[in-house]
Amino acid sequence: MRINVTKTFMPPAEEYQVYLDRIWQSGHITNQGPLLLELEKKLEKHLEVSRLHFVTNGTLALQLAIRALGLEGSEVITTPFSYVATVSALLWENCTPIFVDIEPDTFCIDADKIEAAITPHTKAIMPVHVFGNACDVEKIGAIAKKHNLKVIYDGAHGFGAQYGGKSLLSYGDIAMCSFHATKLFHTIEGGCLIASDPAVSDKIELMKRFGHNGDEHYMLGINAKGSEFQAAMGLVNLGHVEDIIAQRKAVYELYDHHLSPKYRRPVIQSGAVYNYAYYPLLLESEAELMGLMEAFTAEDIFPRRYFFPSLNTLPYLPDKQSTPISEDISRRIICLPLYSDLSEEDIKRICGVLNR
Ligand SMILES: *Cc1c(COP(=O)(O)O)cnc(C)c1O
Repeated sequence: MRINVTKTFMPPAEEYQVYLDRIWQSGHITNQGPLLLELEKKLEKHLEVSRLHFVTNGTLALQLAIRALGLEGSEVITTPFSYVATVSALLWENCTPIFVDIEPDTFCIDADKIEAAITPHTKAIMPVHVFGNACDVEKIGAIAKKHNLKVIYDGAHGFGAQYGGKSLLSYGDIAMCSFHATKLFHTIEGGCLIASDPAVSDKIELMKRFGHNGDEHYMLGINAKGSEFQAAMGLVNLGHVEDIIAQRKAVYELYDHHLSPKYRRPVIQSGAVYNYAYYPLLLESEAELMGLMEAFTAEDIFPRRYFFPSLNTLPYLPDKQSTPISEDISRRIICLPLYSDLSEEDIKRICGVLNR
């Protein structure tokens, strides 16, 4: 049986059907429908945040965040160790990404290196809570305050993770999360934005639906609205998410138990509560990684090189910037298969390949 790096959580179909019946009754399939508003409220309660905007994907959430804070065209400090959407959102909004290298143990942006990268054109910092691990939100917050910069957290992996007793998504001027099918909590496609300033939140409310309210046009907008079908999937999955996290934790612990201790793993930020979003392993070299990938393929097991390549090496960037730690780590890191119903037998099979 083929084992992939992830498997989309499929809730019981009859639970989704209940919501489909409601959609058919209301005849309302998009445009801030009743299920979408219900999901927003339930997510706010679950995550203990306020002013949560559901949008149709996480990438649009990042782009709206950049626009809502008026950052388009500026320099934004970010991390090279992320999924490409972090950087493509910046480039799409005409921002210049300035890459600051990562910490070798948490894989998040190295806050101690941020100040040296600030120029008169810098307007914001866009760190990523990598694999659901918390960035040094306190240090980053202090730097931003001192230099009058905005902070947008790419919290695409951050659902259910906490720092200092609060949701990771409650930090920063804006935090976003992705609800894509491959993420821990999903709405098929989807994402959210949380802005700390109510005025910014009001701007997002307009921007996400073309910038107008009735016949009154207030600002340039875009279409980032979610549909009732996405909302329905979210409402069903929200009922399972605690179990999903608990089951992933169990898988995680089985890996820890069966894997040789020689493998290096990221260090969870102290004060953080982890959500078991990914199981990354740092290998000795790219050659070791390539050998392992071959051995896995022979066993019909497909872990993923993630994140690779380091984003400062993207061919369409305007200039070359060097971030040696991220470049080194991205060449020799893999994420092992991790999903709620991965069996112990399969975990043993995967560990068998690694321990050999
Ligand atoms: C998935 C992901 C995104 C983009 O989210 P989508 O919902 O797929 O658009 C952004 N940043 C990171 C780190 C991600 O993993």
